[in-house]
Amino acid sequence: MRIEGLKIDREALLAQALRGAFPDARGRYGPFGGRYVPETLVPALDRLEAGMRAHLHEPGFRAEFESELRTWVGRPTPLTLARELSRRWGAEVWLKREDLAHTGAHKINNSIGQALLAKRLGAKRIVAETGAGQHGVATAAACARLGMPCVVYMGSVDMERQAPNVGRMKLLGAEVVPVTSGDQTLRAAIDEALRDWVSDPDGTYYLIGSAIGPHPYPYLVREFQSVIGLEARAQMLGQAGALPDVAVACVGGGSNAIGLFHPFVKDLGVKLLGLEAGGTGAGLGENAASIAYGTPGVLQGCYSLLLQDPHGQIQETHSVSAGLDYPGVGPEHALLASIGRVTYEGAGDDESLEALAECCQAEGILPAIESAHAFAGAKRFARANPGSRILIGLSGRGDKDMPTLQRTLLKGRL
Ligand SMILES: *Cc1c(COP(=O)(O)O)cnc(C)c1O
Repeated sequence: MRIEGLKIDREALLAQALRGAFPDARGRYGPFGGRYVPETLVPALDRLEAGMRAHLHEPGFRAEFESELRTWVGRPTPLTLARELSRRWGAEVWLKREDLAHTGAHKINNSIGQALLAKRLGAKRIVAETGAGQHGVATAAACARLGMPCVVYMGSVDMERQAPNVGRMKLLGAEVVPVTSGDQTLRAAIDEALRDWVSDPDGTYYLIGSAIGPHPYPYLVREFQSVIGLEARAQMLGQAGALPDVAVACVGGGSNAIGLFHPFVKDLGVKLLGLEAGGTGAGLGENAASIAYGTPGVLQGCYSLLLQDPHGQIQETHSVSAGLDYPGVGPEHALLASIGRVTYEGAGDDESLEALAECCQAEGILPAIESAHAFAGAKRFARANPGSRILIGLSGRGDKDMPTLQRTLLKGRL
C-alpha cells in the first residue's frame, strides 16, 4: 500500500489501536480523520460532539436504543451456519444476517441511533443525503418511527437511477429534494445537505450514513454499528464454540465493516478482511477501491484515503454495486490498513456477481451485490486456508438489486 508523504509509526499506532485509543481528543485516527470544514460548521460539530458525549453512553439513552433495536429493527439478527458453502469451499462458513434487519440492511442501526440522538439534542427536523437511496430509506423509516420530519437530498441523476427507493422514501413520509447542481449525484447532494444544516444548526440534525465525514461522525456511526460485531462475537462463541479465524466484510464508506470488525480488533487471533469494489480493473475510473488505489486527502470534511488525480480532483469511480461506488473510505479503515490490522483486497464485478449466484443456490439467500463482494473475498480466503472458520458480514439483502441482476446475471435467461 502506498501512503504518500505520510510518516506512519506502525508499531506505535498498532499499540494505540489495541488500547482503544482512537479516535483521540481531536477526532483523529493516527494521521487520518479530524475535521476539515468551513468555519461555519465548527460550532455545529462542537455542539454535536458535546451532546454525543452527554447522551451516547447514558443508561436511559442506551435502554431506548436497545429497545428500538430489539422491537423495531428485529435484533439480534441471527448467525447462520452456511452448510453448503462450507462443504463447497472446504471451510466452516458463518453468516451474520444483517439482511434480516428492518429495511433489509445494516444501515437502519445507524439511522435509528442517530435519529434518537437528534431527538435528545432537541432537533426539530432531520436532513440526510443519499446516493443509492438505501441510507435515505433507512433514515426516512427511522424518522417516521420517531415522528420527526425528514428531508433527503438526492442528485437528480441518482433519483432516476434509483426510482424505487425514491418511492419508498416518499411513502415513509420523507421529502426528497432533487439536486440539479454540480455532478447531480452524491457529491452535489452532500453539499446541499450541509448548506441546509448550516442554515439552522440548532433545529436541524444532519444524519450521515457511513463511517465517514468530519469528527465525531465516524466515531458515532462506529458506535451504533458495533452492535453487529458485538452480537456476532457472542454468537460465534455460543454457536461455533470459538471465535472465527477471519471476519470478512465489504467496504464502501466502511460502516458495516467497522461495525463487524471493531469488537474483534483486540482479538489478534482473528484476521480481519475488508473487500473494496474492484470493479472492472485497476485502471482510472474502473473501480472504487480507495484503499488499494487511493492517496491521502480531504473528502467530505475528513482526511483519509481517496481516489483523486494529482491535482486533488476526485476521480470517477465504477462498481456494479451502487452502495460501494464511493471515492473515499472512513478514516478508521485508512488507519487499520496502514497499521496492518485489517487486510483490504478488491473483489471485481464479475467475481462478486458469481459469488452472489453461488450464495443463492447454496444457501437460499439472495445477498445484496455489496455483500456479495465479501463472499467473493471469503471464498478466496477459504481456498488459501482450507478448514478455516470464516465469519461473513452479510450486510444486506439483494431484492433491491433485481434491476441490475436482470441486466447482468440473468441476461438472456428470462
Ligand atoms: C450501503 C451499503 C453498503 C456500503 O456501505 P458501508 O458504509 O461501507 O457499509 C454495504 N452493504 C449494503 C447492503 C449497503 O446497503
